[in-house]
Amino acid sequence: MTEILVTGGLGYIGSHCCVALMEAGYTPVVVDNLSNSSPTTLDRMQQISGVRPKFHKADVRDGGALDRIFAKHRFAAVIHFGALKAVGESVAKPLDYYDNNVGGTLTLIGAMLRAGLKKMIFSSSATVYGQAATVPIREDFPRSATNPYGRSKLIAEDILEDLSLADGGWRIARLRYFNPVGAHESGLIGENPKGVPNNLLPFICDVAAAHRDHLAIFGGDYSTPDGTGIRDYIHVMDLVEGHLAALRFLNERPGLLTVNLGTGKGISVLEMVRTFERVTGCDIPYRVTGRRPGDVGECWADPTLAHHILGWRAHRTLDDICLDAWRWRSLESTSFL
Ligand code: NAD
Ligand code: UDP
Repeated sequence: MTEILVTGGLGYIGSHCCVALMEAGYTPVVVDNLSNSSPTTLDRMQQISGVRPKFHKADVRDGGALDRIFAKHRFAAVIHFGALKAVGESVAKPLDYYDNNVGGTLTLIGAMLRAGLKKMIFSSSATVYGQAATVPIREDFPRSATNPYGRSKLIAEDILEDLSLADGGWRIARLRYFNPVGAHESGLIGENPKGVPNNLLPFICDVAAAHRDHLAIFGGDYSTPDGTGIRDYIHVMDLVEGHLAALRFLNERPGLLTVNLGTGKGISVLEMVRTFERVTGCDIPYRVTGRRPGDVGECWADPTLAHHILGWRAHRTLDDICLDAWRWRSLESTSFL
């Protein structure tokens, strides 16, 4: 029984990661403060895996609580998802973001040191590339931040780098996610944004479910083939499988690993809309409006390094992404909540 501490393990990506960990024979132990999740996700994870993950309701900023949790388990590694992630909110409440995302990471590292554990996988983001000058984006591109959320990820990345330079015993993976989308194929867990969704695919699902009458496409005048923005949408199950590959890598080698987790394929907003319509049979009425402030035209990964070093690559298709997102959305609105 190899126990892995998963902070934020009831959230969107963390819950999928726990399912993948259980399938691979690990025992995930979730620490989550429920600020953006619900304990009912534990029931759904149990339905999928047949096992209920262990859960501690705690905040990663609470060092005492972490010490008590570390005393109860023998963790082989920590996967640190627990953070705030809304860009707009981070502009309005920057201190909350530095406190949770930077302070939480520091407190967690302190507890790991007290427990003698030096293996961590950290959720970073393509946002650390700021407005990249060219695509595809490689790991050695310059980093910058355009908002406090992005800066909190930059700072946490730097802390982890300094730590690995100071103590060669640390094994750290900084995984830079592009656009995680979709849901577990069971339709039992997925992304559940509160209020009006900011992200494209949850918004498309809202339109398909007739909760909104149309999609606003933010900009039709980018220098892309159809004029709409291009992103690298990665199925959440492919993404979490990248974490398992990183875990195997860290078991073999100490040091600092920094890799992109993306597909290497750019998809436009219109391609996403058309694919969703084709595979689900739903109509998605849309209107092209002005650009969203802060948006870039194109952002997609060069995932070569992850394939080379980890032997990992995303293999699920855009059809899978749309079908799985829609299955989750349809089941969730009829059977649950
Ligand atoms: P999420 O909000 O669904 O999950 C985060 C979980 O962490 C939630 O369950 C929340 O309750 C918990 N949490 C937040 N602050 C905490 C704290 N102080 N202590 C304990 N638990 C806490 O978000 P997600 O989409 O699953 O993102 C997971 C990680 O991936 C985050 O670090 C996020 O910044 C990063 N990331 C996400 C995306 C994306 O598009 N979803 C892209 C790049 C990076
Ligand atoms: N987008 C859109 N309408 C929406 C939400 C998003 O046209 O209601 C576009 C957005 O401009 C971008 C792409 O869809 O080109 C992905 O946006 P998302 O917010 O999902 O990801 P991010 O921009 O953070 O990479």
